[in-house]
Amino acid sequence: MAMTNNGEDPDIFRITLLGTGSPRPNLDRHHPAALVEWGSTGHMLVDAGDGVVSQLLAAGAPLEQIDNIALTHMHWDHILGYPAFVWGSWNAGRLKLTVTGPAGTADMHHRLVESYYREQAEWAIDLGFPRSGFDDIKVRDVPVGWSEDIDGCRVEAGPVYHPPMHALAFRFSFNGRSLVVTGDTAMCDELIEFCQGADVLLIDACAAKPSDDLPPARRRIIERLHEFHASPQDCIDIAAKARVSKVVLTHHLPGVEPDYDASRFSGDVIVGNDLDVIEI
Ligand SMILES: [Zn+2]
Ligand SMILES: [Zn+2]
Repeated sequence: MAMTNNGEDPDIFRITLLGTGSPRPNLDRHHPAALVEWGSTGHMLVDAGDGVVSQLLAAGAPLEQIDNIALTHMHWDHILGYPAFVWGSWNAGRLKLTVTGPAGTADMHHRLVESYYREQAEWAIDLGFPRSGFDDIKVRDVPVGWSEDIDGCRVEAGPVYHPPMHALAFRFSFNGRSLVVTGDTAMCDELIEFCQGADVLLIDACAAKPSDDLPPARRRIIERLHEFHASPQDCIDIAAKARVSKVVLTHHLPGVEPDYDASRFSGDVIVGNDLDVIEI
């Protein structure tokens, strides 16, 4: 696949942030999703929150060529756009698809796509759509420790802490550089190990400190998020301990400015925004 690279630079390795928001609807920040691209054709869409199809179009990505997805976990803000992606990319001409995620991924596909939309797919096929791209979608549940070489990039699944969900981080290693995308996670020693020496770390910083002017009930909800998500400071600390070169904070709540002290971290800190492109 030649994405926006058009095959011109075989050494390219980058991530486009498609959604840097949280479950709370926000025009500026879509639900979590990111497109990782390497070489002239390698790519993986990581997560597919609401808005993923329009954000892919906004990023200039050819929908019909995106045939590789990883899902970090089955929370609704990470998969609402999945059926829309399956339909939208198939309509655009996509002829195959591999979907990789933790336990529950195949069941999600069966319930959200196959079970509900099979009749409508048969109608579209009768109309002239090819069976390939809908009938032969390959969906696999994989454990921590899974890895595979995809178009010259080593892709590995690693541990996070996001109870009670089965959830995975993904590490991409290409031409001597590496990227980790965590999905949702609270502070986690195993994740620090998994991120060691990464060039770029895209990490969930959702558990920011609630502002004082919020109603007490809303404050309590945000404070409890820390049991399931990292705070911006946790992200910096993980990046420092793992000797990461650049940490990119994502999964932001609307109206909350991430607060952190990066004085003990020698790398770069980026507060990710929708459609940012980060070279690795
Ligand atoms: Zn989650
Ligand atoms: Zn989430």
